[in-house]
Amino acid sequence: MSRVLSSCCRPSPTTPILTCRLRSDTSVLMSASAPPELIRRRRFMRFRFAKEISMKHYDAVIVGSGAAGSVMAFRLAERGLRVLVLEKGKREDPQSFVHNEMAMLPRLYKEGGVQTSVDHDLVIMQGCTVGGSTVINNAIWLRADLTRVLPDWKTRGADLSESRINQAYTDLESKLHVSPLPAGLANKGTDVFLRGSQALDISAHLLNNNRSECIGCGWCNYGCRYNRKASMLVTFIPWAESCGAELIDQVQDIRFGIQGDAVKSVDYTRHGHKETVTADRVVVCAGAIGSSELLLRNGITQRGNVGKHFHVLGGVMVTAEMQQPVNGYDGIGLTAMAEVGPESVIETFFSPPGAFSITLGGWFATHLERMRRYNYFAQAGVMVGTDPRGTISLDRKGRTKIDLSFNKNDLARLRRAVEAVAKIFFAAGAVSVLPATYRFVELTHPGDLALLDEWIRHPDDLLLGSAHPQGGNVMHEDPKKGVVDTTFRVHGWDNLYLVDASVFPSNIWANCQATVMALSHTASDYVVQ
Ligand SMILES: Cc1cc2nc3c(=O)[nH]c(=O)nc-3n(C[C@H](O)[C@H](O)[C@H](O)COP(=O)(O)OP(=O)(O)OC[C@H]3O[C@@H](n4cnc5c(N)ncnc54)[C@H](O)[C@@H]3O)c2cc1C
Repeated sequence: MSRVLSSCCRPSPTTPILTCRLRSDTSVLMSASAPPELIRRRRFMRFRFAKEISMKHYDAVIVGSGAAGSVMAFRLAERGLRVLVLEKGKREDPQSFVHNEMAMLPRLYKEGGVQTSVDHDLVIMQGCTVGGSTVINNAIWLRADLTRVLPDWKTRGADLSESRINQAYTDLESKLHVSPLPAGLANKGTDVFLRGSQALDISAHLLNNNRSECIGCGWCNYGCRYNRKASMLVTFIPWAESCGAELIDQVQDIRFGIQGDAVKSVDYTRHGHKETVTADRVVVCAGAIGSSELLLRNGITQRGNVGKHFHVLGGVMVTAEMQQPVNGYDGIGLTAMAEVGPESVIETFFSPPGAFSITLGGWFATHLERMRRYNYFAQAGVMVGTDPRGTISLDRKGRTKIDLSFNKNDLARLRRAVEAVAKIFFAAGAVSVLPATYRFVELTHPGDLALLDEWIRHPDDLLLGSAHPQGGNVMHEDPKKGVVDTTFRVHGWDNLYLVDASVFPSNIWANCQATVMALSHTASDYVVQ
């Protein structure tokens, strides 16, 4: 900790500090004509030393290379810290990304894209690759409404500075070239959505994004093979590496070596080989769910708070069939949002045929018939923020259990949001509106909207999904009520920090990447001290 931090980036920051001392010790042990007892000891020591010699020391070990981990890695490395990032997923070459959903889902998504809650009613999508969920996200850059979020967090024991977070947003926006999404890249479904909103006097607008010179192929959720999306894989990770940070991918089974109130070493397995590194600080950035899993597997429960207060921003897709072809696959799908009130988030969407087919209700022949009309569809996603009432836990076999159900309140909000977006599509001339329901539901007239109350009563009446899991290791000043304090230090630990979407005390009601990165940006100032 007392190391003087240099302010410039250094090409090779990892000096294996144990090496010199142990090498000289080993050479003494290897002197000639030793008695058999010493030879046996020598063999044992050689084995031990071989292991220790390879043990590197870092100023900071970061677990997870997504939105939070990458920003943290860069911010620490640029200030001269020796940084190691450990990532569970594989480092992919963007040029190897193909426009094939079945090929890309297992490569880039956690559990191949089918991570679900215990009751299987909710699919929670996350990335598992170097760059985390930013590699598969839609590159929409949305600041959270801090005037709404921070007062709520304050009542929940987490008083954060609005100006610091705003400064972080501004810095990140300049680094990632955040700009308004060009209208010419949006798909035609966006026109439908904006036209319908305008007809109803609903404020709707194109969003900001972190892409540069995008060609609008629309395959953002399967990795950008053209490097136009400023994901962490092509920005903060290489920037951190240029400042000397190291990254190891495909690590499994991370175990903390604990001494007193500090994590002194980190063990991990890679391709069957166990490795150990020592560290002055450890920063957990494994994402919502992942960070809770990691702490629980290491026996860190924080008085039962780890895994508590999990929540999502999630909901359903609503598809509209138009009279004329829309060719929604041609261009970017997630482009615009409509402001229909504080209790839901409504954004345009579209996806390639495989993912699209899952969001389209109906079965067998009906489903096939609908899919044949693929190029006539426009789509929007409606999302609501659940209260922080879910839990992440490990079952008796050590498997992760995600326990969160949409309650009556969430479903009522979703019904109203589905109704709002259906009205938008009808106002734009839709011939039918198809919410993503388990049963076959087709609205052919605004008068049908009254039926939604009957059709949407239980969570499994809808095909629910979320790309924005949050909470599970929430921030709270009181160690009895939360996992991290307002400096992102895990309560009661000297050198263990945690920052990612899991620290959000309650829902931010916005796409999460900007706020995750902004919190990591802020947290790095505490971690570096
Ligand atoms: C399909 C999709 C589309 C999205 N679109 C948008 C969008 O347009 N705009 C937006 O703002 N947000 C979007 N998001 C959400 C946004 O990407 C996430 O909120 C954000 O990336 C979360 O950051 P994080 O650091 O908390 O987690 P992640 O970015 O998910 O990173 C966590 C990393 O930790 C790794 N990890 C987990 N466990 C371990 C372990 N035990 N050991 C080592 N590594 C581990 C994971 O593999 C992963 O790489 C989208 C998400 C998805 C899935």
